[in-house]
Amino acid sequence: MMPNKSLLTRIIALIIACLPLVASSQIKIDKAGDDWDLKIDSAINLIKQTDTNYYNTLVKYCNHIEIWNGPFSTNYWDKDYGNIIISVSDIKLNSINNLAAVLVHESAHLGFRCNGIVLSENDEERFCYSYELAFIIKLPNLEPWLLEHTLRMSNLK
Ligand SMILES: [Zn+2]
Repeated sequence: MMPNKSLLTRIIALIIACLPLVASSQIKIDKAGDDWDLKIDSAINLIKQTDTNYYNTLVKYCNHIEIWNGPFSTNYWDKDYGNIIISVSDIKLNSINNLAAVLVHESAHLGFRCNGIVLSENDEERFCYSYELAFIIKLPNLEPWLLEHTLRMSNLK
């Protein structure tokens, strides 16, 4: 079941209410690979230039970005400390737009963790892809495969 619109509106309001007035980037990015941390930094700058609301949410909830060899990007919340783990497979797609989409998506998951909001796994995933979708459609030069993937995932059954 898709959570109803008023629930989504309340979740979004709660997440935004937690934002500091001025967010500053204190995100630590682990060095890895062939300047992969610089690609992630470019993706963060793209988010900042595209929409400061998404940027503020990212810097509020994410303190640290790691890179791993696992097949997907993910996140974890540890003692008030938000961590995003970027998959090498996402980096190798060679798209800063995709990395920005991943960071926006995972920051939404961290918002759930930080605020103790519990939905079913599918509802949370659908929400995070919808949040990601609302961001990526603002990107100039959005790759059709990225739009198609995010559209499909935001309508998860
Ligand atoms: Zn997700």
